[in-house]
Amino acid sequence: MTEDVEFDLLSIGGGFAGLVAAVRGAELGLRTAVIEQGADEGYLCSSRWAGGIFHVSYHDVKLPPAELVAAIERATSEEAEPELAAAIAEDCGRTVEWLAAQGAHFTSASPIGWHRWTLAPPRAPVAGQDWRERGPDLMIDRLRQRLEERQGQIFLGARATSLRMEGGRCVGLTARRGGAEFALTARAVIIADGGFPGDAELFRQHIGPRPDRVLQRHAGTAVGDGLRMAEDAGAALTRLDRFYGHLLSRDAMHNDGLWPYPQIDAVATAALVVDPGGRRLLDEGLGGISITNDLARLDDPLCATVICDAAIWDTAGRTAQIPPNPQLERGGGTLWRADTIADLAGLAGLDPATTGETVAAYNEAVRSGAGAALSPPRSSKSGIPKPIETPPFFAIPICAGITNTMGGIATDGNGCVRRPDGSVISGLYAAGGCTGGLEGGGALGYVGGLIKACVFGLRAGEAAARQIRSGGT
Ligand SMILES: Cc1cc2nc3c(=O)[nH]c(=O)nc-3n(C[C@H](O)[C@H](O)[C@H](O)COP(=O)(O)OP(=O)(O)OC[C@H]3O[C@@H](n4cnc5c(N)ncnc54)[C@H](O)[C@@H]3O)c2cc1C
Repeated sequence: MTEDVEFDLLSIGGGFAGLVAAVRGAELGLRTAVIEQGADEGYLCSSRWAGGIFHVSYHDVKLPPAELVAAIERATSEEAEPELAAAIAEDCGRTVEWLAAQGAHFTSASPIGWHRWTLAPPRAPVAGQDWRERGPDLMIDRLRQRLEERQGQIFLGARATSLRMEGGRCVGLTARRGGAEFALTARAVIIADGGFPGDAELFRQHIGPRPDRVLQRHAGTAVGDGLRMAEDAGAALTRLDRFYGHLLSRDAMHNDGLWPYPQIDAVATAALVVDPGGRRLLDEGLGGISITNDLARLDDPLCATVICDAAIWDTAGRTAQIPPNPQLERGGGTLWRADTIADLAGLAGLDPATTGETVAAYNEAVRSGAGAALSPPRSSKSGIPKPIETPPFFAIPICAGITNTMGGIATDGNGCVRRPDGSVISGLYAAGGCTGGLEGGGALGYVGGLIKACVFGLRAGEAAARQIRSGGT
């Protein structure tokens, strides 16, 4: 069936990126609609599950743009597309103000500077699922309300399946609802489906061989539809091999009380990650996102155990808003403890002799500052290594949790989708978790999922309005 109405702007996806684009478009006088596959009023999306902290590479969004560009460049080792970094830095402050004008309530989740712009109310400091009625969940409903107040529509239970292209330009989309296919006409379409963290095939193709042994630390709704549609329409895709994620208790694979929090990142970064043979697997000093990516690439991503001592457990273990010490055990997670490394290895199913040698070599390298000579080398980019010498000793079986993909559809600074030759596809935009070019790369630079979704949602909505007002194609 073909719906009679001709829209100016259609968003594929009702997370932050799609809703912000649609509300901004409606505010600028466009006839807008959101196509959302979730059928319920409280449909799932990763945006609802977020911790709600708006930051730019762990910096306050109200810092001067030049400082924010420098922060992004440091985080990404200058691999972020300069145009995208500049767009975020210029508009992140305006974006949180715009969200506040739509009814967002921000609070400071902690004394940490970059926690200043957290959607209220923030999550409770407990392990497990706690997102309903928290700031991001409420804000998604508020944006929907704003859309409807401005005569925008949302088609629930409708899954976009393809883009309609005419003469190289996007003129609408096709979707399925209740088993029936329908087509919509629009002058601009914004892909905002969240990326591909939940798609096993794309994960195997671009990230690692065992998606079934990686924890899906998200709502499960982003399965690469937008990426495939964009590719079919001639879009360039970029940096698909990296993702944003965290280390979690291995028990989270079967215990929902242990994810998305507490994260084990800070403990692993201060200490050791070993395989069942007691050998180090990777450079822990590169931080939680890097360790998570490294584990996800292994033939068996579930083979890793963190080893630390009482001093690390009582310091790094207590950092983070939802700290593993004591939330890990409260959530039912395994924490082995023993007075000697050999006994600990026995309890945790690790080779006792090799584990003892690994800890001894590591301690010696920490004391002499010779981490670079270890194999694999031990850096201190994201955390200073601490000796493992104060009993009791602890072992935590861990898993890698994927939250969202960092690469995706290539766009310019206004969210216009690019072809491989750099030209833009008229009428086609992308924003949020499905886009690439800002994050990832060799340095695994992270900028921030919420700020990326909202800044580019806003800019894409505005660019579509300019395109339509100018009669442009
Ligand atoms: C547990 C957790 C904590 C997080 N905490 C933070 C944080 O504190 N700070 C931060 O910056 N980031 C955080 N993030 C990341 C952030 O939430 C995401 O990067 C961001 O919300 C992505 O928004 P989005 O709109 O692009 O995608 P999504 O929120 O995934 O929305 C995409 C929508 O598209 C719909 N959809 C998918 N395919 C189709 C289709 N074919 N047709 C129609 N609809 C479709 C989906 O159902 C979904 O509703 C967190 C994420 C998680 C999971």
